[in-house]
Amino acid sequence: MGLDNSDVNILNILQGNGRLSYRQISEKVKVSVPTVSSKVGNLERIGVIRGYHAELDPERLGELSAMVSIKARPAELSSVAAHFKDDEQVRQMFFLSSGRLMLICTFVEAHMINDFAAKVGAIPEVLEYDIANVISVAKELDRAVIAPGLNLVFQCMQCGKDIRDEPLKVRDGGRNIYLCSAECINATRSRMARPG
Ligand SMILES: [Zn+2]
Repeated sequence: MGLDNSDVNILNILQGNGRLSYRQISEKVKVSVPTVSSKVGNLERIGVIRGYHAELDPERLGELSAMVSIKARPAELSSVAAHFKDDEQVRQMFFLSSGRLMLICTFVEAHMINDFAAKVGAIPEVLEYDIANVISVAKELDRAVIAPGLNLVFQCMQCGKDIRDEPLKVRDGGRNIYLCSAECINATRSRMARPG
């Protein structure tokens, strides 16, 4: 499913400034306020818009960042990642096609980097790792690039899998629920049928 021009424009505007009102957005995009409201609601529900927050500058807070690249056996990469799931210092974590895990970390105090390196080194499944402090930030943008002709990759609202083909839909109170398979449709229908 593609995004139309107004969707793309709305995303562009909101990524630049998440505090604009629907009215201000509607004036910029030249669509009605209810259209903006329903489009934003949809983009939120589908998960394209994950949230709204202030963009803080860690350097102005005296914090230090580091990039950590971790190598493990492919079968053990997920269990290595699980060690960092609840770690506040790990701000972003990516599974890479090279079979590595890339962590972007921020530390409140410099000495914590050593403690973190020790933690990584102590995980038995870690075959090797590389940790490097960020000396200065040359460029930092949000990861989503807003461009015309973007296609949505739905996430199954039952099992959470990415849906690369056209999603299956179930209506729920005037809204679409996007699903990946007949199995997830059945699970959703029986969930909807349960009271409460
Ligand atoms: Zn599913």
